[in-house]
Amino acid sequence: MTSAMDDRLAADFYDFQAALPDEERTILLRTRTFLRDEVKPLVDDAWAEGRFPEELIDRFRESGLVGLPYPDHGEHRTPVSHLLTGMMAMEMSRVDASVATFFGVHNGLAMYAIHSGGDQEQRDRWLPRMARMETIGAFALTEPLGGSDVAAGMRTTARREGDTWILNGAKRWIGNATFADHVVVFARDVDDDQVKGFVVGRGTPGFAPEKIAHKTALRIVENADITLTDVRVPETDRLRHVESFRDVAEILRATRAGVAWQALGVMIGAYESALAYAGEREQFGRPLAGFQLVQDLLVKSLGNITASWGMLLQLARLQDAGVFKDEHSSLAKAFVTARMREVVAWAREIFGGNGIVLDYDVARFFADAEAIYSFEGTREMNTLIVGKAVTGQSAFV
Ligand SMILES: Cc1cc2nc3c(=O)[nH]c(=O)nc-3n(C[C@H](O)[C@H](O)[C@H](O)COP(=O)(O)OP(=O)(O)OC[C@H]3O[C@@H](n4cnc5c(N)ncnc54)[C@H](O)[C@@H]3O)c2cc1C
Repeated sequence: MTSAMDDRLAADFYDFQAALPDEERTILLRTRTFLRDEVKPLVDDAWAEGRFPEELIDRFRESGLVGLPYPDHGEHRTPVSHLLTGMMAMEMSRVDASVATFFGVHNGLAMYAIHSGGDQEQRDRWLPRMARMETIGAFALTEPLGGSDVAAGMRTTARREGDTWILNGAKRWIGNATFADHVVVFARDVDDDQVKGFVVGRGTPGFAPEKIAHKTALRIVENADITLTDVRVPETDRLRHVESFRDVAEILRATRAGVAWQALGVMIGAYESALAYAGEREQFGRPLAGFQLVQDLLVKSLGNITASWGMLLQLARLQDAGVFKDEHSSLAKAFVTARMREVVAWAREIFGGNGIVLDYDVARFFADAEAIYSFEGTREMNTLIVGKAVTGQSAFV
């Protein structure tokens, strides 16, 4: 199966898009058009102002592109492949990484936590409205004092009193939490010392999210510091199948793959803008694209994009085949985000001084790459996960 050349991104040098079946390619192209027409016009001002544009939610709601991985609960009733959802994340980041992150927190982290951690009644209760983006989700794992070591170092506590749980502690960096309707909060049960998951509704007394200001990356995403003071959650809102951190790791395994796809999208967006600029801007009487050293940067970028895309294509196949392990997604997240960091730096270099002003997309990609490099497990943490898998030795401490 081959895709029509005029459908293909210039960065899709090996025609990876052709790996999608026709009906999924149609959804991908619809996503691309939606992002170009409905999302791109919103992002430049919002990024500069550090503001989440609320109309983004309305536009996504009308797009029919939310909830695709949850065919039992969404409007799209046909199961879709991991390759399609990965390539959709790539398309979003290719336009704007904040938009991809907002979407990934809702449609990935929060919905998947409820899907895999909840029982049938809980899925039926929360997921249908989330799949229509009538309600928004967030995922609160990281803490001010517990980042990379949050598995062992989680300080937020849950204490059971009859049919109610009392949560106390603090969370940091939680995307969408300033306006989310449902925040999945992880806390350590003081009785058995295991991590459990709770769905906390907006406005619950004692639950206080505060927007983190002055970010220099992903400025459109609202990240929050949350304090939890005697937050009361009914037992019915505890996720039934989250019994320890092992269940949280299973969620992260899937969402980390999505972040690797986001990193690919950032690379592609930066490469496309550099390629266009190199064709237009002239120095020494010819376009920048005509200099060997500039071609070297472009071709190295295309090599990183193509190697990463090939890796993610096979990762998606492992996911679809159900033989996907933590170390598979960790290797992809560590490798692809490192390649992304190289590509955004080379792309920015091609713009010279113009590479640091927001009038050109490359400055936004360059800044946003830093957050993607660090979240959902830093390169070091993902390296240690793979290192343990290949050597049999744990080197975390
Ligand atoms: C924009 C953004 C959005 C985010 N969104 C969310 C969200 O929605 N929900 C959520 O729960 N979290 C979220 N996070 C948190 C994110 O997952 C953490 O920032 C990340 O896991 C790293 O934790 P940390 O920032 O506390 O860094 P630290 O853990 O303090 O690490 C600092 C540095 O030390 C290194 N390091 C630590 N331990 C070791 C070791 N043993 N060996 C070698 N090096 C080590 C790390 O790799 C890193 O380079 C977000 C973060 C950002 C920046």
